[in-house]
Amino acid sequence: ASLSSPTFLPVLERIATEIEQTPGRGRPADYIPALAACDPRRFGMAVAELDGTVYGVGDWRQPFSTQSITKVFTLALDLAREGDELWEHVGREPSGNPFNSLVQLEYENGIPRNPFINAGALVVTDRLQTRTGDAAGALLGFLRAESGNAALTFDKDVAASEARHGDRNAALGHFMASYGNIDNPVPVLLDQYFRQCSIEASCADLALATGFLARHGIRADGSRLLTRSQAKQVNAVMLTSGTYDAAGEFAYRVGLPGKSGVGGGIIAVVPGRCTLCVWGPGLDERGNSVAGVAALDRFTTLTGLSVF
Ligand code: GLU
Repeated sequence: ASLSSPTFLPVLERIATEIEQTPGRGRPADYIPALAACDPRRFGMAVAELDGTVYGVGDWRQPFSTQSITKVFTLALDLAREGDELWEHVGREPSGNPFNSLVQLEYENGIPRNPFINAGALVVTDRLQTRTGDAAGALLGFLRAESGNAALTFDKDVAASEARHGDRNAALGHFMASYGNIDNPVPVLLDQYFRQCSIEASCADLALATGFLARHGIRADGSRLLTRSQAKQVNAVMLTSGTYDAAGEFAYRVGLPGKSGVGGGIIAVVPGRCTLCVWGPGLDERGNSVAGVAALDRFTTLTGLSVF
């Protein structure tokens, strides 16, 4: 099959120039040393077309820590395996609370609000672990296949660092286990979750790996991962809950399903058209990449593409 032309490259170049001239970039996440050391002036942005054509600007081939972006892929992988039963164990409403909040869990019987806050992501990883025996391995295999990059791997230092600073996630895991909403021993789950968060990938890799959500559930090799409805559901949850407690602001400014991570990456989906990934390690006070949100805001403004 012939590949499409890099339609949006001039737009990306213009955005990179604008971002270059913007002074405030926020601050890198500082809860683990590996992230705190990132230079907030780095910036990359990639677009993947539905046929696998990928192109970008700046540091678009530089691997970074994917962190919470992986929650989209574990959600899709689990949903593909167990379908709607998943929703008996995790909700799909925005939380309005920080990503690592414990407060809602007690009065909602250990059922987290959505799959993208940490509690919800732990439930999803736990269920994927039960179904695959190696959730992080299944995730890595999927990312390698979709990106075509067999070199993708875990960053052992980041995973170890997450574990050393993992008291909050451990608390979430044990608390939900007390309600019977966690299947595996919590230490096993945490090990899987920390490895999941530690995967390094570039904007190019992640834009390609997100392609199935723009292709209504179809993977890079043409096989189906999700039904059309399930792909819509994942995109909807990204729109309402994908950018911590700033999802309203992100929908307002960008108007696309998106998922951010504290490594400074954000993936976004234009259903039926293309996927994007942007990276800038400086975060705003809610944990979203300052340059990343600005760049996606400019992309949808300049191209007129959004789900609205
Ligand atoms: N590993 C981080 C945590 O669970 C992920 C945070 C994030 O990207 O939102 O605390």
